[in-house]
Amino acid sequence: MAGLLDSYAEVAGGDVIRHLQQLSEPLQGMKVVHVNSTRLGGGVAEILTKLVPLTRELNIDARWEVITGDGDFFKCTKSMHNALQGMPANIPARLLDKYLEINAQHAEELRPTLEEADFVFIHDPQPAALLHFCPNRKGSWFWRCHIDASQPYRPVWKFLRHYITEYDASIFSLAKFSQSLPHPQYIIPPSIDPLSDKNMELSREELEEINNNYQLMESHPLLLQISRFDRFKDPIGVINAYKMARRFIPSIHLILAGGEATDDPEGAEVLEEVRQAAADDDNIQILLLPPDAHRIVNGLQRLADIIIQKSTKEGFGLTVTEGLWKSKPVIGGNTGGICQQVIDHQTGYLVNSPEGAALRIRYLLHNPNKLEEISAKAKEFVRENFLLTRQLREHLTLMVGMLHGVEDRIVLG
Ligand code: UDP
Repeated sequence: MAGLLDSYAEVAGGDVIRHLQQLSEPLQGMKVVHVNSTRLGGGVAEILTKLVPLTRELNIDARWEVITGDGDFFKCTKSMHNALQGMPANIPARLLDKYLEINAQHAEELRPTLEEADFVFIHDPQPAALLHFCPNRKGSWFWRCHIDASQPYRPVWKFLRHYITEYDASIFSLAKFSQSLPHPQYIIPPSIDPLSDKNMELSREELEEINNNYQLMESHPLLLQISRFDRFKDPIGVINAYKMARRFIPSIHLILAGGEATDDPEGAEVLEEVRQAAADDDNIQILLLPPDAHRIVNGLQRLADIIIQKSTKEGFGLTVTEGLWKSKPVIGGNTGGICQQVIDHQTGYLVNSPEGAALRIRYLLHNPNKLEEISAKAKEFVRENFLLTRQLREHLTLMVGMLHGVEDRIVLG
């Protein structure tokens, strides 16, 4: 067994790895390409960073390509992202032309790789039109949507759908995100890498150092939300919930840590709103972390008492998975993939408002037994459902299924 696979066997179990090896047999030497629009920041980059090398360990020729663009391109794709999540966005024709122009340019550059590949996974809307510009493709192409697209803003979806219908299949994180499309749709939830800097065990010394750097105190219960500064992550709602809970538990401390994904032009504006909302409170820390601060994120998650992810829309919410993996209760917005992970009273609490979040914060901090009971379940829940090895197994199953000509919709996982 190769080195990397050996290490995963220790966390996920030897049977899981042997199963991956069996499934990969018909795919030996095949070319698989993933394309997205950022190497750093956000959940997609987080997954591909490990999914691609692990696929390679199974003797599959997997690679990861990234498309880039200018300000207008990302303005357009951010509006598409928001519109897929239901926000009305009237994208001017000039920006849509730019979107197609950048996709056409990248298709030109990547065409030999993409047209030769046996399987191509295109992530999210940014590179979705690449297939349109690769008319001589040989392999199967999947559009992998990581966004809660259950109620998209119709005019934008109509534009994108035109390009997505050209794919052989789509993959969504949850069944309720699937759309009316003329090809099979597969359901594959995302996953975390238990061996990455973000999720591995940290030494006591390293945790102490992080504790000291951020001046955390054991007597001050720590609430933590790690998220890009994006309105759908509702950072202002988190501050309001914290302020309500603080009236009853004055010692609580809140950290909102985020960074900018390079494909997210709205971050600076939201960060400024968050700074203003927190201005009068010394117990709130706002951290702007560099995109490679994985061990700091890991340490903060381990040092927190409660992880918050109060999103109002969320494709999946890897930060929830990461928090649960560190045996922490998660108070999460009752939306999208958070509902797959936060099971009321078992792994945390789903909330619909800042008031609801404040109530659950108080409840958990006043009931240490309940907090411990949830902590004990949280990690095992992730081990069984949301590790990288499970996601890779489903990708392999999908590719093998394609080789054998699966035509009907099947649900994996
Ligand atoms: N993340 C990070 N630093 C930050 C903010 C986020 O490393 O400042 C990571 C976070 O730990 C998680 C991913 O980025 O792994 C965010 O994924 P999620 O699915 O929660 O949200 P997305 O950004 O994809 O909407």
